[in-house]
Amino acid sequence: MSLTELFNQKTVFSLEVFPPKKTADKDAILPTLEQLQSINPDFISVTLGAGGTDHCDRTVEVANLIQNQLKIPAMAHVPGLYQTKQQVLDLLDQLSSINVANILALRGDHIPDKQPAGDFNHANELVAFIKENRPNFSIASACYPNCHMEATDFVDDIGNLKRKVDSGVDHLITQLFFNNQAFYDFKEKTEIAGINVPIEAGIMPCTNRNQIARITQLSGVPLPKKFRAIMDRYQDNKEAMRDAGIAYAVDQIIDLVSQGVAGIHLYTMNHPGIAKQIWQETRAVINAK
Ligand code: FAD
Repeated sequence: MSLTELFNQKTVFSLEVFPPKKTADKDAILPTLEQLQSINPDFISVTLGAGGTDHCDRTVEVANLIQNQLKIPAMAHVPGLYQTKQQVLDLLDQLSSINVANILALRGDHIPDKQPAGDFNHANELVAFIKENRPNFSIASACYPNCHMEATDFVDDIGNLKRKVDSGVDHLITQLFFNNQAFYDFKEKTEIAGINVPIEAGIMPCTNRNQIARITQLSGVPLPKKFRAIMDRYQDNKEAMRDAGIAYAVDQIIDLVSQGVAGIHLYTMNHPGIAKQIWQETRAVINAK
């Protein structure tokens, strides 16, 4: 079943993982994936080059494990900034050869001191190129409930998002956010702009202060007062921080699902235990008709 059909039938629940480093054993991620398999997610996405790292070669291998060994639909992230048109076509053909039909088309994170390839400066150009040259892929793309940090303002960002969706995007996945109201306000703006594709809410369970600091710095996502209080109080207590981070994510998910969100995309950070716990505490809500 295509993802588009799935969104018509249920609240989609998906997971995101990142591939092992080039220097690590390529199967190092297998135990993580096998644990995530028990969640039976609707798809698992695999990052490529996220955070300016060079995991590129590994994305296809991990997507292959997910799609063909775990038998779960895989989604490969495809950032365009540092790839030529030919490299994108080669990557897409590799993905087709292992039956991966879903991609997340992105501009990509900037890598300091690295010169962009020049073929795709923004994600909408990549989406249009893929739609024209490899139309069989189902294309997801990114969006930002707190506005993308490079955009002048929301009017600018939503206008750019509308152009991207109109280039051939089938569904959107949001950047992480910690304040559900930001998502609801964003959703309203997209509806006014005539953006009608399903929007999955990206949720990151925050169980580690350093990780949160790095991610919020990279993404510019604001931390609500309630969340900062949790971090201030429990940051030095690993177990309490873990419990509080999971509870916060569960709370966000239950609220979003009850308000009719199209899907939840869990940034697992390759921590299957945390993802499983969140799933156990929300699955009845997510699966409720
Ligand atoms: P774009 O849609 O191009 O938008 C980027 C900025 O440019 C925005 O400010 C937008 O308003 C503006 N803009 C868009 N189009 C135009 C235009 N035509 N003209 C002028 N301005 C324009 N990065 C990775 O490198 N690898 C990954 O695997 C990865 N996975 C991600 C997964 C998710 C769910 C998300 C939300 C992000 C991910 N990222 C990843 C990060 C992403 O690459 C960055 O957020 C990047 O800064 C923007 O990517 P984009 O595709 O949204 O870009």
